Amino acid sequence: MERAYNFNAGPSALPLDVLQLAQKELVNFKETGMSVMELSHRSKEYDRVHEDAQQLLRELLEIPDNYDVLFMQGGASLQFAMIPMNFLGKEQTANYVLTGSWSEKAVKEAKFIGETKIGASTKESGYSTIPSIADITYSSDDAYLHITSNNTIYGTQWQTYPTGHSIPLIADMSSDILSRPIPVSEFGLIYAGAQKNLGPSGVTVVIIRKDLHERTPDHLPTMLRYDTQSKSNSLYNTPPTFAIYMLSQVLAWVKEKGGTTAIAKQNEAKAKLIYDAIDESSGFYRGHAEQGSRSLMNITFNLPSDELNKKFLQEAKEKGFVGLNGHRSIGGCRASTYNAVPVEACEALRQFMVEFKRIHS
Ligand code: PMP
Repeated sequence: MERAYNFNAGPSALPLDVLQLAQKELVNFKETGMSVMELSHRSKEYDRVHEDAQQLLRELLEIPDNYDVLFMQGGASLQFAMIPMNFLGKEQTANYVLTGSWSEKAVKEAKFIGETKIGASTKESGYSTIPSIADITYSSDDAYLHITSNNTIYGTQWQTYPTGHSIPLIADMSSDILSRPIPVSEFGLIYAGAQKNLGPSGVTVVIIRKDLHERTPDHLPTMLRYDTQSKSNSLYNTPPTFAIYMLSQVLAWVKEKGGTTAIAKQNEAKAKLIYDAIDESSGFYRGHAEQGSRSLMNITFNLPSDELNKKFLQEAKEKGFVGLNGHRSIGGCRASTYNAVPVEACEALRQFMVEFKRIHS
């Protein structure tokens, strides 16, 4: 069977090489006579998988030693709550930059815990931009500043980060982690659900500066504390072992591709194919995101009418393209071009867009 042109927003495409290796190792992992899923999470064979995933992530993102790399569960959505639970003290205010629905969901959880404020918002522009860093208001005693580095639904991405202040910068990088180099030392905490660039759903990566553990209040239950997983090397309870195994294989694949710098170049070239089809269409395709805020991971666009949007999506589906529907909250079309989406799929989409425009404009 042929592989689909998979532009799903998440869960999304995984590298074929990784899937085939997992298939090969599925029933007999490293001569254990068992699948990874059947190993004890306390066994030396699983320990190796766990360590490999952590080490590879450290190497690829150049994570300094004063940061923990944690494997959590509950998705990025649980992080929305855990961050204020651990870091938003009484009489403090947490600062959120709103750039889309996921930032809105993050601040909603923080409001259950304490005081919040909005440092900047691009809601008025239909979340088609990222605010300029100079427009963000914050004060030095904010508990933290929270951003969403890539807005999966609207297709916008921060090009530079709001750094250079003493407030811990926290970023939801669920939809662009590992797509380009990250200056980790500028952040207090980075989190990402794995199901876009890192592997299958079920594991959430958290990269946390160790001094932040001091802020966690004593009364917080064990499983909601970052220091629990830090002290136990993310083995306090049973981790999602198969998802972590897949993560380690995806990381090895990125390393083999030349790491985040090489991957970033490839992502730029892939996104350019599709953005060029939009920009060269004389307005037939209209990108949602403004030029300077465009995401290299999620490319959002509309055709001249709802009817043409529908026709485009229907014909694309018949030609083997998957996942091009825009998010249900904004409609239109969206192509998610994560790390594992091959350049050939982007080239095929570009050709389809050019041809569709020729016939229907
Ligand atoms: N943040 C962003 C930027 C996302 O794209 C998503 C999911 N698409 C989430 C958070 C929520 O992630 P999860 O489903 O892992 O809770």
